[in-house]
Amino acid sequence: MRLLEYIIDANHRALAGDQKDGIDPADYAQSLPLIALTCIDPRLNRFFPDILGVPEEQFIWLRNAGNIITSPLSSTMRSMALACAVKRGREIAVIGHTDCRIRQTPITALIEYFKELGVSRAALPDNLTEFFGVFASEQQNVMRAVDHIRASPLIGPSIPVHGLMADVRTGRLEWVVNGYDVLGRAAVPLPASKQPAIGKALDEVSALGDFKLGEMKFPEVRIGEIATDVKLKVSQAKETVESAKKALRPIPSAHPPEPPPIPPPIRPQQRGKWGMRD
Ligand SMILES: [Zn+2]
Repeated sequence: MRLLEYIIDANHRALAGDQKDGIDPADYAQSLPLIALTCIDPRLNRFFPDILGVPEEQFIWLRNAGNIITSPLSSTMRSMALACAVKRGREIAVIGHTDCRIRQTPITALIEYFKELGVSRAALPDNLTEFFGVFASEQQNVMRAVDHIRASPLIGPSIPVHGLMADVRTGRLEWVVNGYDVLGRAAVPLPASKQPAIGKALDEVSALGDFKLGEMKFPEVRIGEIATDVKLKVSQAKETVESAKKALRPIPSAHPPEPPPIPPPIRPQQRGKWGMRD
């Protein structure tokens, strides 16, 4: 079985009571490290990487609100590209989850939450759905993210890109997109009309140097040097943040208490024992 097929099979077996199998990294040297993009939801903290059964040192975890990718060149996309290029990630999995608060938050409520934080409606973009990439279906959001990754010129065509859903209560994983099935086919870039305009807007705002899609030019600086620019912008932004902090006040929880924690179905075995199996 290939890596993700093994992971899902082991996940289902673990939920059925078989807690024996972790991943033996030696068996999947060509597929690890695994890059995973998940939501920021803290309820996921206890699951990863345990429910995947991969050792921590082979697990590269990217997170953003709603595991959203807004375009093939978005900020998250760039982190993912560097995770492949610098950290040598071999496979990518976008892992959405059930009961996602990002999906459940209506735009009117979002505007209200920002208002409570001292951010007026006028300070936000007109189209908040597009700007934040909010979505109506967790599964469709995962499919869209997988499409963007496969269409990205920053990701090599040999890297499988999977889409999964995790049950936030039990940790059960289900396929949304089997990346092995589509690996052989050439990635078809999304038509410009289907790419959220906000992706372009964000790219303009956060452009690193003179990166241009058409010419694929990257700035002749090391990644760390960009921090100098960022420092300047951070110091300029600090004053704004400080004044915003003054307007902050505790916000009562908008959600009911969480259910008690459930042990993850797969416990990685102790370091050095990955190869041991019954
Ligand atoms: Zn979420």
